[in-house]
Amino acid sequence: MRYLILSDIHANLTALDTVMAALPRDTWDDLLVLGDLVGYGPDPGAVVDRIRELNPSAVVRGNHDRAAVGLISVEDFNPAAARAAQWTADQLSADQRDWLAALPQGPLAVSPTVLLCHGTPDDEDTYVFDELDAQAALSTVSRRVIFYGHTHQAAVYESTGGDSGITDLLPCPAPAHWSHVLAESRRYLINPGSVGQPRDKDARAGCGLYEAVTGELTLLRVDYDIADTQDRMRKAGLPASLINRLAMGC
Ligand code: ZN
Repeated sequence: MRYLILSDIHANLTALDTVMAALPRDTWDDLLVLGDLVGYGPDPGAVVDRIRELNPSAVVRGNHDRAAVGLISVEDFNPAAARAAQWTADQLSADQRDWLAALPQGPLAVSPTVLLCHGTPDDEDTYVFDELDAQAALSTVSRRVIFYGHTHQAAVYESTGGDSGITDLLPCPAPAHWSHVLAESRRYLINPGSVGQPRDKDARAGCGLYEAVTGELTLLRVDYDIADTQDRMRKAGLPASLINRLAMGC
């Protein structure tokens, strides 16, 4: 079973289509999506439609998905994010809105081993930024392999369960193609990176592949036409800070 894992697409259709072109349908079996399909980017409706066409086996909602359909207010968002969220809400059709509104809150189990969440297993809005956060997140559940998003930063936290604690295995800067076989005796908290708005100083689109039988995890970074997305953001009148950060990857 080969899972393709996408997170934080953020209405960036160019990034999504480039990732999907790099990973044709015969390179994966099941698609898992970790939330924030919309928000920030210029293509909210098109990204919702594209993901639905891909028939994912599991999708959890993100905070921007909730904001776009009125499940949370944008009061806690910064002004640029709030403006983008309002713009996003205005672009969605009733059908797209209903589909987003019905997305489940994580955590979502996809197998006896694999769990999905947007923030952490016990709180969809909590961020995992470091080993301490990862340890706390892993302590709330028993599944061995947990995929999360929300930070827009790729990471592969490995827990030995012993004194040596927890380590982020992903090199920094991460290569375009990084693979590692997950150990049966260890637990993992994995962020595949953001497809549509990376914030780990690498502007390329991020995604993950997990082969559940062999345990091989691959994190990929894919070059896409950032200027193409920025053009549509400009035409939509989205905030300049959001347009500029795409090229900086932060
Ligand atoms: Zn996000």
